[in-house]
Amino acid sequence: MAGENQKYQLHIFFFPFLAQGHMIPTIDMAKIFASRGIRATIIATPFNLPLISRSIQESVALGLPINLVPIKFSCQELGLPEGCENADAISSPSLFHIFFKATTMLQEPLEQLLQEHHPDCLVAGSFFPWATDSAAKFGIPRIVFRGTGFFPLCVIESISRHQPYKDVLSDSDPFVIPNLPGIEIEMTRMLLPTYIITDDDTLFTRLFKAAEESEVKSFGVVVNSFYELEGIYADHYKKALGRKAWHIGPVSLCNRENKEKSYRGKQASMDAQDCLKWLDSKKPHSVLYICFGSRSDFTENQLREIAMGLEASGQNFIWVVRESKKDKEEEGDRDRDRDQDQGWLPEGFEKRMEGKGLIIRGWAPQVLILDHESTGGFVTHCGWNSTLEGVSAGVPMVTWPVSAEQFYNEKLITEVLRIGVAVGVKKWVPLVGDHIEKEAIVKAVKEITEGDEAEEIRNRAKKLARMAREAVEEGGSSHSDLNSLIEELADLSK
Ligand code: UDP
Repeated sequence: MAGENQKYQLHIFFFPFLAQGHMIPTIDMAKIFASRGIRATIIATPFNLPLISRSIQESVALGLPINLVPIKFSCQELGLPEGCENADAISSPSLFHIFFKATTMLQEPLEQLLQEHHPDCLVAGSFFPWATDSAAKFGIPRIVFRGTGFFPLCVIESISRHQPYKDVLSDSDPFVIPNLPGIEIEMTRMLLPTYIITDDDTLFTRLFKAAEESEVKSFGVVVNSFYELEGIYADHYKKALGRKAWHIGPVSLCNRENKEKSYRGKQASMDAQDCLKWLDSKKPHSVLYICFGSRSDFTENQLREIAMGLEASGQNFIWVVRESKKDKEEEGDRDRDRDQDQGWLPEGFEKRMEGKGLIIRGWAPQVLILDHESTGGFVTHCGWNSTLEGVSAGVPMVTWPVSAEQFYNEKLITEVLRIGVAVGVKKWVPLVGDHIEKEAIVKAVKEITEGDEAEEIRNRAKKLARMAREAVEEGGSSHSDLNSLIEELADLSK
């Protein structure tokens, strides 16, 4: 397929923000561009390099024009521990601040790379607001990757422009998101990120403002989504809000082979083959998959409640429990043993659940699990990638947002698309999340697994999954929008 679009081979730099939720889809994106004959170079810091290298090895073996270039990241100069090169390695707010500050030190080495390699375009994560200026210095367009969909982008824009949260008296009073097409969406202040509702001048408020300004100055935004999923919001974003954007997803669908699906992100803590074997032994749609993304770090109390909820629901399950970073960073050896002790599990839980439930401690091959026909439900924190991967697999969801823009994604899943049911989180709480009782878990799981309404939810989810696959095939909406973007870039580079 190489060279199908133009004689001159375009060269694009992909520079994802240092977080799994940005790196994973950016790698997929680079693979998609490379499959269209475009030279794709991914920029990676030293600790992220081996993971990315593993993710692209199949594409490299197929001869696709994709490669990796290291970038220096002097995080230790600012006091970050060695290897702190990914947001998923950080849990304490103070380290998080340093981490974000440290990422600004990437500007100079990036510009050196731009000087050396002369790419035609830079696709960079939105949390690198300075990247638009860097690209401009070398006369090339910068495309922003926000890592989220059109619906949340429209909600974010509306909230920041109209500040509807200022019109209510209490944090729990509902307000309508103004100037949004489609159905009326209500939020409360408790569901909004604290950096949005504060008037204080903080690192994050400054970062978000800078990201917004840089986006407006950029060549446009590339969105991991597809038109059939949220077309009215894509149109609103482009036409009413005047933003230039291309939808080219779901990008995860470029991973067709099991090996590719299991090489996304970190090294899986359970062998992919064993995982598939376990799933093969279960009936279609009979397994619940529970995972809260790469960053959420629930308390022991919450983990215990989830265990009790799963047991009471009577479902087969695969539950991904992240290793607690807090233990390692703050509490030292005493709690480092927590994961080995499993003191947070109800007594005898694993014995009782033998054959019925699997706990994966660490990292799971998520897309591989979601795509298996035995998987029938997804309890998700509604990160955009997980949301879209759930949609692409046609799996009904129980929505359990924690922070970031996840509460907007929950609204899309439960109210706009109606392919999921909310577990009932009432408050935006970074990392550890709001507490949810076992009864709420059982109720939500029942609602997506039993009865006529559950059947309708599954049918809607399956229909969207079919549309997702069509969107990325030749002639599909995402395939065509990617063609338009490639053509525009080719014209610019003439
Ligand atoms: N993921 C995975 N295995 C895990 C946890 C996460 O493969 O055990 C992947 C998941 O498939 C998704 C990404 O990590 O592609 C997480 O991105 P998302 O936007 O859902 O959430 P975030 O981690 O950014 O909160």
